[in-house]
Amino acid sequence: MEEKKPLVCASTKKCGGCQYQGTAYEEQLKKKQKHVQSLLNKFGKVNPIIGMKEPYFYRNKVHAVFDRDRKGNIISGIYEAKSHRVVPIEKCLIEDEKSQEIIRTIRGMLKSFKIRTYDEDSGYGLLRHVLVRRGFASGEIMVVLVVASPVFPSKNNFVKALRKVHPEITTVVLNVNDRHTSMVLGDRDIVIYGKGFIRDTLCGRTFRISPGSFYQVNPVQTEVLYGKAVEYAGLTGNERVIDAYCGIGTIGIIASAKAKEVIGVELNPDAVRDARINTRENKIQNVQIRQGDAGAFMEAMAETGEHADVVFMDPPRAGSDEKFMASLLKLNPKKVIYISCNPETMARDLNYLTKKGYGVKKIQPVDMFCFCDHVEVICELVRK
Ligand code: SAH
Repeated sequence: MEEKKPLVCASTKKCGGCQYQGTAYEEQLKKKQKHVQSLLNKFGKVNPIIGMKEPYFYRNKVHAVFDRDRKGNIISGIYEAKSHRVVPIEKCLIEDEKSQEIIRTIRGMLKSFKIRTYDEDSGYGLLRHVLVRRGFASGEIMVVLVVASPVFPSKNNFVKALRKVHPEITTVVLNVNDRHTSMVLGDRDIVIYGKGFIRDTLCGRTFRISPGSFYQVNPVQTEVLYGKAVEYAGLTGNERVIDAYCGIGTIGIIASAKAKEVIGVELNPDAVRDARINTRENKIQNVQIRQGDAGAFMEAMAETGEHADVVFMDPPRAGSDEKFMASLLKLNPKKVIYISCNPETMARDLNYLTKKGYGVKKIQPVDMFCFCDHVEVICELVRK
């Protein structure tokens, strides 16, 4: 089969967001496969990575930092690696195109609205970042303006002017971040248009997503990933299931139709609120969401002698802590479905679990981050 000519990125040298620009997609997949194999082969056969048909413009979340260049022109783009210099980006090949258009429109509006970009050194200025999230299935679009102070001049006119160009925007939120920090979002959201969140559909369920909640950035591959997770779980309808690190409740809610009961646990309060509302809006009775540290939650469950048949775990890049892993063993579920965005920490955790009575049945990489060197892996573990 003849490979389509890859699109060429103009910013790749300075940007640092992608590691595989200029590498044919098939080649990227081979490299990722090799990488995962080098880390996980010792636990079992690694299935061939599932790639995308169309590996461009897949990111449903687009983030731009705002600044001025040396000539004083307003720029938007990405931080240069390991620095706080901003590399201007005109067109990115992996981010949603509509969301990028919106960011360009906002950039063009700032001067006439006399909105200054924030300067990290002096602390002067207002606009720090813009975040756009688009529900690929729903078409709903959320614009988050991250500002250093809650006073946004002529905000209603600003929204009006922005929506005149992009009537598809369904909500606009001011997020106040007045701290000296590398975190993008601050704690306070002020909804200035619409309902303050978007909804999107995955695997036949609808999810509400707030500005601060985690939501997978590649919805096409997320459906593949969740499909595998639920398939590997092999639920029959009688199981008590834990969805650890559940975010807005996606995996647990999708799995709930085949389980007796699902308990989701999540640390971020915004995500917990979304998850609870998502269970209600999907008319699901057998999912509960608990707020807290997943490790502490598992420990409490183990100590009170509760049981679980299947545990889905989808920790952040650092993997799970010892408390979580030790309590997982105490809970002793028949099956663990481990979803990881970092095969290094997954290897560490599999090493632990395979020494303590679990066998690896399946290892499946899924390419969620085309052109980037990250790779998602899902693993089915079964109690021996
Ligand atoms: N399973 C979800 C979210 C995965 S991302 C999905 O597929 O969308 C990891 C999630 O873990 C994030 O929502 C993050 O807020 C949460 N998290 C991070 N540390 C945690 C901890 N110690 N305990 C519980 N949740 C945590």
